[in-house]
Amino acid sequence: MLWLGWGDPARARELPDQVRALLHDLLGVRPPAAPPVSLAEVRLPPPAPVPVSLAEIVGSAHVLTDHESRVRHTRGKSTPDLMRIRSGDGSDAPDAVVLPGTHDEVVALLSACASARVAVVPFGGGTSVVGGLSPDKSGYAAVIALDLSRMSRLVSLDAESRLATFEPGVTGPEAERLLAAHGLTLGHFPQSFEYATLGGFAAARSSGQASAGYGRFDDMVAGLTLATPRGTLTLGRAPKSAAGPDLRQLVLGSEGAFGVITSLVLRVRRAPAERVYEGWRFPSFAAGSAALRTLAQDGPLPTVLRLSDETETMIGLARPDAIGGASDNGCLVIAGYEGASVADRRRLAAEVLTGCGGTPLGEEPGTSWEHGRFSAPYLRDSLLSVGATVETLETAAFWSTLPALYDAVRRSLTGSLGNPLIMCHISHVYETGASLYFTVVTSHGLDTWETAKQAVNTAIIEAGGTITHHHGIGRDHRAPYATELGPLGAEVLRAIKTTLDPTTIMNPGTLIP
Ligand SMILES: Cc1cc2nc3c(=O)[nH]c(=O)nc-3n(C[C@H](O)[C@H](O)[C@H](O)COP(=O)(O)OP(=O)(O)OC[C@H]3O[C@@H](n4cnc5c(N)ncnc54)[C@H](O)[C@@H]3O)c2cc1C
Repeated sequence: MLWLGWGDPARARELPDQVRALLHDLLGVRPPAAPPVSLAEVRLPPPAPVPVSLAEIVGSAHVLTDHESRVRHTRGKSTPDLMRIRSGDGSDAPDAVVLPGTHDEVVALLSACASARVAVVPFGGGTSVVGGLSPDKSGYAAVIALDLSRMSRLVSLDAESRLATFEPGVTGPEAERLLAAHGLTLGHFPQSFEYATLGGFAAARSSGQASAGYGRFDDMVAGLTLATPRGTLTLGRAPKSAAGPDLRQLVLGSEGAFGVITSLVLRVRRAPAERVYEGWRFPSFAAGSAALRTLAQDGPLPTVLRLSDETETMIGLARPDAIGGASDNGCLVIAGYEGASVADRRRLAAEVLTGCGGTPLGEEPGTSWEHGRFSAPYLRDSLLSVGATVETLETAAFWSTLPALYDAVRRSLTGSLGNPLIMCHISHVYETGASLYFTVVTSHGLDTWETAKQAVNTAIIEAGGTITHHHGIGRDHRAPYATELGPLGAEVLRAIKTTLDPTTIMNPGTLIP
């Protein structure tokens, strides 16, 4: 993973000329004032010493304090995170990176850190886009990043129940590789799939591109273990239970603020024998949304279902590998079918889509989407390099609220940023509603973007949306989350934090209002 951008440097790509021209002519984007600093030039605070007991627990080889390790564990991968690190600002760096190998080591580390008032930031793939890895350091003797990459095993497989128990540091591709050996799949493919971890998916309530077919990540979690500064919570012993409130739901989405997820029991599926992705065109976003709602409510539901609005369709963002080449009118839908009865489901869905005003475009747009499905983050790096600010934001609402929410977000962004390029898609649908995922490109710099982001957060809450459908809260969404929860809800959350983490060492500044 690049320390100042996304992914494999070999996959970095130049922007097509049409896109450069569009950025300049439409948005007034100018080249950045200075190129990114080198890794050695990133300015880090002098490291505070961490207790020697940490090295006694994990072995001294697994406590890292070198410059590169600290830089690589500084913040996550939001656009503000990338802009700060590119400018050489490493002020949020941890003092040390500690790599435990077992659940018992994590429990011992948390106990030692609680005694020494050392803050602990669980670190999975480091792909947070909401400030989930930027702790509030004030009042702590030191801050450690607890890197879970050594805990990366498939622990056991219960083939009869279709359950797999994993350690938290397993990445998306590794989970699929381990399951493929048994003819199984998890089916969780967020755009951060290549680097994010199972523990991070659970801690941030992730949702993948095939959520219509396989469900959100939190739907997949049958059980889990949480190491806390107070000891261990082990949850989930049946597919469903009426034994009081489901405490698993307290851990899912807890973003490292209550403890460290050290194992996950996940529902897995038979690997699909067949996969087909296809494109459809709708005359408008409203017509496309109505079609998606019909499929979500009355079926049949494809495995992948995604609708780009007019601007996203025009730019071609649904197919990043072909960007700049698309200029179709209307709105593009990608529908994908995986698993059993593909032909039948496809035929029935086609009847619904045609009945809702859709025009079939065949498999080419679907295949193109599939090839580019993990490419958009590379495009962001290219845009940052030519001086554009590009960031994403997301929300969800009930179907009846969705059109007003869409308008409110666009109005807020236009009010703050003048003439940004705003693209949107729906990629997670439910019987009762859907998510909206916006990509914004502007020539304005970081300060203006951050002001615009605060305004749009308020607009989302006022328009009846949730502050996040799948990115999580982190530090960036704490204030609007407090409004969404209400004062009593915030108090409940704080009470849980006090019980599990009485010395507040777990990811301070994150999640809890
Ligand atoms: C380019 C890009 C595309 C993305 N696309 C998607 C997408 O399609 N869908 C989606 O849902 N998200 C997406 N994200 C957001 C991000 O990938 C998810 O939030 C993911 O779940 C984070 O996993 P991670 O392993 O990288 O966690 P990290 O970023 O390392 O951590 C995320 C949060 O969880 C905590 N945490 C991590 N591991 C544990 C653990 N074992 N126990 C307790 N707390 C832990 C951290 O402290 C932090 O607060 C995207 C991000 C990027 C940069």
